[in-house]
Amino acid sequence: MNPTLKVGFIGLGAMGYPMAMNLHKAGLLTAAYNRAFAKAAALAKETGCLAARDISALAKRCDAVVMCVSADQDVLEVVDALAGNLKNGSLVVDCSTVSAGTARSAAERLAQHGVGFLDCPVSGGTEGARHGTLAIMCGGDEKVFARAQPVLAALGKRIVHMGAAGAGQATKAVNQIAVAGIAQAVTEALAFAEAEGLPLDKVIDVVGSGAAGSWFLNHRGPSMVRGEYPLGFKVALHRKDLDICQRMAAARGAQLPVVEMTQVHYRRLMDAGHGDEDISSLFRLKRALFAGKS
Ligand code: NAP
Repeated sequence: MNPTLKVGFIGLGAMGYPMAMNLHKAGLLTAAYNRAFAKAAALAKETGCLAARDISALAKRCDAVVMCVSADQDVLEVVDALAGNLKNGSLVVDCSTVSAGTARSAAERLAQHGVGFLDCPVSGGTEGARHGTLAIMCGGDEKVFARAQPVLAALGKRIVHMGAAGAGQATKAVNQIAVAGIAQAVTEALAFAEAEGLPLDKVIDVVGSGAAGSWFLNHRGPSMVRGEYPLGFKVALHRKDLDICQRMAAARGAQLPVVEMTQVHYRRLMDAGHGDEDISSLFRLKRALFAGKS
């Protein structure tokens, strides 16, 4: 443990803001930066931390930085702004979901300045971010991982070192592929059950208690069969993550059938204006398979 770690947070979005709050509750938050300044000002008002006007001002005050921004290019932009401004021996923890290649590139760029880097994508959604119960999949040097423990412990409850730089992001890709397959299977199965005229609450109960039971069936099944798709995990965000999975598989010369199919379905949902719904809205498309067929 290093109780004197001064931590900065970059990217106060749906995930980042509550994560930064948890760092504050752990007594670690020194400064925050957000591209749109108002969110940093709001956090500063709530916590007393410094609202940095730019990334270099934050970097100069901190010896560890956690970031949670949108996509690959955003991570590299922030890393380039940090490199050269952070002290030698500092560390950067990136909780964004990006490709393993981006994580390796970020690690190399920071290593040139003597700064450690961990790719630490998270799972558990905004609820996990708020409660500090995220699952965190970490890649990077083991000594840096050990130094980051107080920071990671403030953010999550299952924290696993997966291997060298990029291994955290590769594990997150595994997670997103599995989520796509489960969502495909459960929404299709429940649309079939509906077409068979079965009592859907009983289907969810009994099927959910056997070999086909899953978190998604038990938690999203009841709302989807009512035609409701509360967030959750946005279609548009999962689509972005599946793009990463497609690119990583393509780099190995492979295509992933479940991912390819899910991307086609997500495109249809987004074109119909459902991109901000929970991924259980795949049920809309599965239900349509049976429309007018009986
Ligand atoms: P979000 O609400 O859209 O927030 C994105 C944050 O990144 C904002 O603070 C944004 O700043 C900042 N940002 C984006 N590009 C930037 C750049 N080039 N430079 C500086 N700041 C930049 O997204 P989110 O839901 O928090 O997700 C953040 C990351 O976590 C994503 O990679 C996502 O895939 C991953 N994730 C999300 C969830 C979830 O359930 N939401 C779950 C697990 C993982 P502005 O406010 O100025 O736009």
